[in-house]
Amino acid sequence: MPDCDDTLRELQTFLDGELSDDAVGTMQAHLDGCPDCLQAFDFHAELRSVIAAKCHDALPPGLLARLEQCLQADIDGDGRIG
Ligand SMILES: [Zn+2]
Repeated sequence: MPDCDDTLRELQTFLDGELSDDAVGTMQAHLDGCPDCLQAFDFHAELRSVIAAKCHDALPPGLLARLEQCLQADIDGDGRIG
């Protein structure tokens, strides 16, 4: 059985759905027996679903793209925003 560090490190990959079937089985087996990791998993899973729901509802089309452009300009540019 993997330890908690391994499980928590792979949690994001697991939530991304990018974990191999073997690793998913190992992860779920660990979560079944480890309340601490299960709590962390629940928190991150809930957080993702909330963000997905809120962003989907609240962000006007194109806003994300504009935000990315602003951030990118800040990174590329002379350090001034706007
Ligand atoms: Zn654990």
